[in-house]
Amino acid sequence: MKVSCAGGAYGGVRVKQMKIILLGPPGSGKGTQGAELSKSLHVPEISTGDMLRQAVAEKTALGQQVGDVINQGCLVPDDLIISVIEERISRSDCGHGFILDGFPRTIEQGEALEKVLPDSVDVVIYFNVSSEAVVARLAGRLTCRKCGAVYPKVDTSLCSVCGGDLYQREDDMTSTVLRRLELYREHTEPLVSFYREKGKLAEIDGEGSVEDIAQRVEEGIAQVLA
Ligand code: AMP
Repeated sequence: MKVSCAGGAYGGVRVKQMKIILLGPPGSGKGTQGAELSKSLHVPEISTGDMLRQAVAEKTALGQQVGDVINQGCLVPDDLIISVIEERISRSDCGHGFILDGFPRTIEQGEALEKVLPDSVDVVIYFNVSSEAVVARLAGRLTCRKCGAVYPKVDTSLCSVCGGDLYQREDDMTSTVLRRLELYREHTEPLVSFYREKGKLAEIDGEGSVEDIAQRVEEGIAQVLA
C-alpha cells in the first residue's frame, strides 16, 4: 500500500483522518482485509462481532444479554450495539480514525452513526461476494479463540499468530450461516445504496486471492477520495 498513515496522503489526496466502514456479507473477507488496512493506516480495526464475542467469553452484563442471539445468528438490538460503538469510537485511539467491521448492519445503525459523525465516514468498502462463496467459506473456516484470526480448515489446531486454539464458531455451522445471510440481505444490503447515494461507496469484487482483493481495496479507496 502506497500510503502508510492516516494524517498523510492517500492516492495523492491529503487526509487527516481515515474513517472506513467494511460492508459485505458474513465471510466476505472484511476481517482479513481490515487487519491489513489497520496496520497500513495506523488506525484501529473495530469488529463489533469480536467485541460481542469477547463480552460473552468474559461473561460481562453485555455478554450475558447477547450470547444466545449471537449463537443463533440473529442481530442484537440496534440501541444496544449503537451505544457500544459510540463508546468505542469516542476513545483516544480513534483520534485519527477507525475501520469498522460489522457496523453498521442496519439502516437505523447507519443513520445513528451519521448523527455521531458530523462529517460522516470517508469511505465504505463493499465486498461483493456470492452467497455460494460465503457458505463455502464460513462452513470451511476455523477461528482463533484468542485473537479472532481465521483459517481454512487445516490439520493444525493452533493459531500461527498467537498460539491460541482454533475452533468452529457455532454461528459458522451451515444452517446458522443461511440465517445470517438472509438477515444480511434483508437488513444490511440496503446500506449499499445508502452509502452509494452519499458518494462514499467503493464496490469491489470480494472473490479471489487475499493479495488481489487488497489491491482492489487500495484502488477503491483512492477512487472515492479523489
Ligand atoms: P460477525 O463476527 O460480524 O459476523 O458478528 C457476529 C454476530 O454478532 C452477528 O451475527 C450478530 O449476532 C452480532 N453483531 C455483530 N455486529 C452487529 C451489529 N452491528 N448489529 C447487530 N448485531 C451484531
